[in-house]
Amino acid sequence: MDIVFNCPHCEQELAVDNSGAGSEIQCPSCGEKIMIPAAATPPIPESGPPGAATGSQASHTISSSAAAKVEMHLKVPVRDKPGEVLIAKPKTPLEAVARGADKKVRVRTIRHATCVEAGHDKFDEKVSEFLNEIGEANLVAVHTISYTHFDVGTQKILTDYGVLILYRG
Ligand SMILES: [Zn+2]
Repeated sequence: MDIVFNCPHCEQELAVDNSGAGSEIQCPSCGEKIMIPAAATPPIPESGPPGAATGSQASHTISSSAAAKVEMHLKVPVRDKPGEVLIAKPKTPLEAVARGADKKVRVRTIRHATCVEAGHDKFDEKVSEFLNEIGEANLVAVHTISYTHFDVGTQKILTDYGVLILYRG
């Protein structure tokens, strides 16, 4: 199990045997003296009882010094990473574009009373018409509303219903 860290002087990625944690070594890349950090997470033995793993690790420590085990991970271009992240712009997710993220959220309220023409109830027809007009992809939500209004015909205050359509357009 190796501790993988970056040299604080030259950013070279280094791998040091776990037993070298906390000791000072010379960076094989830039020659500066660096402290080997402790492993972030304790090594989990992949197989076998924990006792056996600890035993093999202990013998490992005796046979090899930490400095001798320092390796360079040359294949990883560590220096390029921060620059790329800073330059990259956050992309709008494709899903959001498809749903119409570039459009504004709008509200349309359709009251039942306004859809009754010459005694014919055209509420469903009008709501369907509007929904087809905005398109299913731009539909955000539909809420039912109830309201009171003064009915001229019956001279009474009636309670009626309608829908509040939240959409992008
Ligand atoms: Zn270095």
